[in-house]
Amino acid sequence: MATGFFKTDKVTNEPVLSYAPGTPEREEVLKAYKALWNQKVEVPLYIDGQEVYTGKTKDITPPHDHQHVIGFYHKASKEDVQKAIDSALAAREKWANMDWQDRVAIFLKAADLLSGPYRAKMNAMTMIGQSKTVFQAEIDAVAELADFWRFNAKYLQKIYAEQPESSPEVWNRMEYRPLEGFVYAVTPFNFTSIAGNLPTSPAMAGNVVVWKPSSTQMYSAKMIIEILEEAGLPAGVINMVAGSATMITEQVLSSPDFAGIHFTGSTDVFQYLWKKIGENIAKYKTYPRIVGETGGKDFVWMYRDADPKAVATALTRGAFEYQGQKCSAASRAYIPESQWQAVYDELKKQVESIKMGDPVDMSNFMTAVISKSAFNKITGYIADAKKDKDAEVIIGGGYDDSKGYFIEPTVILTTNPHYVTMEEELFGPVLTVYVYKDDAWRDSLELVDKTSPYGLTGAIFAKDRNVIVEASKKLENAAGNFYINDKPTGAVVNQQPFGGARGSGTNDKAGSMWNLIRWMSVRSIKENFNPPTDYRYPFMK
Ligand code: NAD
Repeated sequence: MATGFFKTDKVTNEPVLSYAPGTPEREEVLKAYKALWNQKVEVPLYIDGQEVYTGKTKDITPPHDHQHVIGFYHKASKEDVQKAIDSALAAREKWANMDWQDRVAIFLKAADLLSGPYRAKMNAMTMIGQSKTVFQAEIDAVAELADFWRFNAKYLQKIYAEQPESSPEVWNRMEYRPLEGFVYAVTPFNFTSIAGNLPTSPAMAGNVVVWKPSSTQMYSAKMIIEILEEAGLPAGVINMVAGSATMITEQVLSSPDFAGIHFTGSTDVFQYLWKKIGENIAKYKTYPRIVGETGGKDFVWMYRDADPKAVATALTRGAFEYQGQKCSAASRAYIPESQWQAVYDELKKQVESIKMGDPVDMSNFMTAVISKSAFNKITGYIADAKKDKDAEVIIGGGYDDSKGYFIEPTVILTTNPHYVTMEEELFGPVLTVYVYKDDAWRDSLELVDKTSPYGLTGAIFAKDRNVIVEASKKLENAAGNFYINDKPTGAVVNQQPFGGARGSGTNDKAGSMWNLIRWMSVRSIKENFNPPTDYRYPFMK
């Protein structure tokens, strides 16, 4: 068979388009948005390359206009989930044995389809279904997902090229096998790119997958599958099921062939999944890989010599873009007393100029939060803060769910560094500020480190290098993505590999070779060109 050492082209990050008035991309995305708005999209299950219409459906409604139905998705039964597992296992042999370059070609083509002909539609679907502004959709659903697909192809080659030393008359090799079984991908609502990456990174490494998207991301999930199919993904390699999360999970985790979970979502759900896996551990043919990126309580810490305008801007963007629904969103800030007035004035000016509304109006910086339950949870904290003695709502605090789930960008000031909104993840547009005495800056770093169980992202703002060095060391374990004089959001694939430890996950760094390696099981091969023929060693003579 003819062969060669293949390699893909140099990969670069997908450029983010501006969508400024008068640009062709703005026109295209608005056209796609308006066309989709007046249609009803039906989302089936995808099992063994077939579209499965179960007849048990749920409406899909945009969070910014919850009475407007834009489609519906079909819900799986236990039998459907079992079919998805069986079809993944049936596809495994051919897929695992396919040359890596043939597998990778599918995802490289998918990235080109996504960033080319499907760009406007994918952005429009993410804007409508998940209530993202066009810019938030572009950096996520197009740029980041295309980056995941292209860079993972590069990392795969890097891993495969990693080989052991050999010695005279011996040739040592390492084979990177896919896991023996199937991988379960469970994805969150807040990033279309994560929904696309979690099933595909194991698949790129030769694994077969059962994928369960979030019920509030079904709309753009359909687009992901359609692009992968158009790019030539064989039937059964990725099977998408939707419906009851607990039923699907019970069924999947009770399969002896379950070989790994690729999860992103909240900490509680991840801990529940880990427990379930533990309960079933004796059933499995192989120890499952458990990879989970979970919640955060991400901080911004300011030293007295930092620029208050830069801090206020980092807080505005870091806390309120995508309504604070980024795992990396700034949600607690520590500001020195001498700088508080300046930071507050700038923050107030910026936040009060934010426009909120429908994403189709491109002058809006914020839109609605994802669901009724998210709205109720977040506004509950705001209502409490209005009453609590140790907290005060100093900016925003209003909300209205009559048309969409809209919550104003809200800033709470607290005198209690352990106030509930300094500790718990709200996952909404709420920032809590604690003002510390300038001289107690070392104690404030201790607070940053010890206040929350999470360790996802965090930012420090300072000029004095001694302070930067000390704070970086002190907060070594407080964030898996640490920013110096920058906001704690906006990680880019191949630039800031993403993930946190502590309660925030297994820190397997999505969009890096460290993630891909989890979906492989190495076989070491030693070949001897001159095997010994006498059992006695020379020292015995
Ligand atoms: P979620 O935990 O509610 O849902 C995530 C996924 O888990 C969904 O597919 C959901 O249907 C599923 N799920 C829910 N209950 C389940 C159960 N009992 N069994 C099996 N699956 C179940 O999270 P979400 O609201 O979609 O996303 C927000 C959360 O995700 C936040 O906590 C955020 O911090 C986190 N997140 C983390 C990262 C990261 O990289 N660390 C990235 C994005 C989001």
